[in-house]
Amino acid sequence: MQKSDFIIEVNHVSKQFEDGKFALDDVSLQIKKGEFVTILGPSGCGKTTLLRCIAGFQVATEGDILLNGEDVTQMPPHLRDVNTVFQKYALFPHLNVFDNVAFGLKLKKIDKKVIEKKVKQALKTVGMTDYEYRDVDSLSGGQQQRVAIARAIINEPEVLLLDEPLAALDLKMRKDMQMELREMHKKLGITFIYVTHDQEEALTLSDRVVVMREGKIQQIGTPTDVYNEPQNCFVADFIGESNILDATMVKDGVVNFCEKDFECVDKGFGEDQEVDVVIRPEDIYIGRLGDEAKGKEAKGKESPWQLHGEVQSCIFKGVHYEMTVLTDNGYELMIQDYHVFEPGTKVGLLVKPEDIQVMKKERLCNTFDGEVLEDNRVRFLDEEWDIPERVAERFAVGEEVEVEVDFNRVNLQDDEEDGILCGEVYFILYKGDHYHLTVRTDDGDDIYVDTNDVWDDGDRVGIRVAPSYIRLYKKSQESGTKNQD
Ligand code: ATP
Repeated sequence: MQKSDFIIEVNHVSKQFEDGKFALDDVSLQIKKGEFVTILGPSGCGKTTLLRCIAGFQVATEGDILLNGEDVTQMPPHLRDVNTVFQKYALFPHLNVFDNVAFGLKLKKIDKKVIEKKVKQALKTVGMTDYEYRDVDSLSGGQQQRVAIARAIINEPEVLLLDEPLAALDLKMRKDMQMELREMHKKLGITFIYVTHDQEEALTLSDRVVVMREGKIQQIGTPTDVYNEPQNCFVADFIGESNILDATMVKDGVVNFCEKDFECVDKGFGEDQEVDVVIRPEDIYIGRLGDEAKGKEAKGKESPWQLHGEVQSCIFKGVHYEMTVLTDNGYELMIQDYHVFEPGTKVGLLVKPEDIQVMKKERLCNTFDGEVLEDNRVRFLDEEWDIPERVAERFAVGEEVEVEVDFNRVNLQDDEEDGILCGEVYFILYKGDHYHLTVRTDDGDDIYVDTNDVWDDGDRVGIRVAPSYIRLYKKSQESGTKNQD
């Protein structure tokens, strides 16, 4: 039988808990021997569950997990050649460092001399030589975590799983340990799978990063891939600072945003297609506007800048300054530069074609399954909504329809009672001149909203849509031949 090229294969794994919630939803991932792979995502996205399924502490509801080509989906943790380091060091407080590290080997009744040699070697690897006889509770957090890692690597597992192992450490200690973990990974030559919600940590440590959201993988790539070429707005927003803007792909190599055409390197999106663009703040060139831009001297000379605007705010960030600039046509952009531009300064902005990342939009409007009811009403999202009579009369009562509502036609109310539906704001994306919100209804459905109003994550809202903004389409029609009735 041919041995697998991958040490770990996760194939279409889903994990549903008793309460019906999916912590993992059709996750597939292949990891090569010796790789350092980081699973990154916000709290609750399923990182730990994925790690626990690989370790065997949890069993996938669907799909399978292969270790070195062997199906281990149902295999108990102690039979898998993997070891886990947890966020809380889980050391035995009544044992000293040596006995903590030697614990597993002693259980296996391994020769004393061999144990001593292995413990010394493991402590050397984690930089804790000479600490053998210290009480573990006399050690700092960082030192305790090193002991926990020594205990995990002493069995020489093929795979080391690390679940936010540095989360309890202070910033300085965390940075030091990050470097040491990279060194350890090189020295040991084994596969590391590392869970974190800290994007900087993920980019610093990994060969590849797996970005997760709500139980689903959003993107897998090298740190530079996920930073420079995010595949969707979530990844762009979650990893680093970014300007994310609505745009139109005019044709191959030309994209329009902030009401201007820009040269870009992207192709294959079609013509006049709605897209999103991402521009990192450090990729926007900024300069003080000279007289030429005010049109005093160089009449007829073209401005070298693509956009003009005024600095609104400027914060010193240690190495660079972070500024917000309001463009003359009303878009707010974040810019990072080594030079300071005080608020009120008139500036010009420039973006190079290769620094514009074009992304396909995940959706162009809200779409729901609906059913036409009596009395000029339609049911969708389990509620009844009024529609204009002229729309209703094009459909039979009881007819199933596709419902569309534009993002900017959803009306959010402070008072939940004023909504047809209630929900909670749970994801906010600033798009330069408006906010794009995801509002999750109490039944767990998502409604996307474009608004100029400022809402916070977790705000409770009422949701309304005016009848004339609800579009209905016959179910059987193919998209593209849609005909609004
Ligand atoms: P964090 O960074 O906060 O640790 P995470 O990304 O590791 O989060 P998980 O711990 O994998 O997330 O949890 C994913 C989802 O599954 C969460 O909504 C969590 O509440 C839920 N969950 C986890 N374990 C259980 C369980 N035993 N029973 C029910 N739900 C669970």
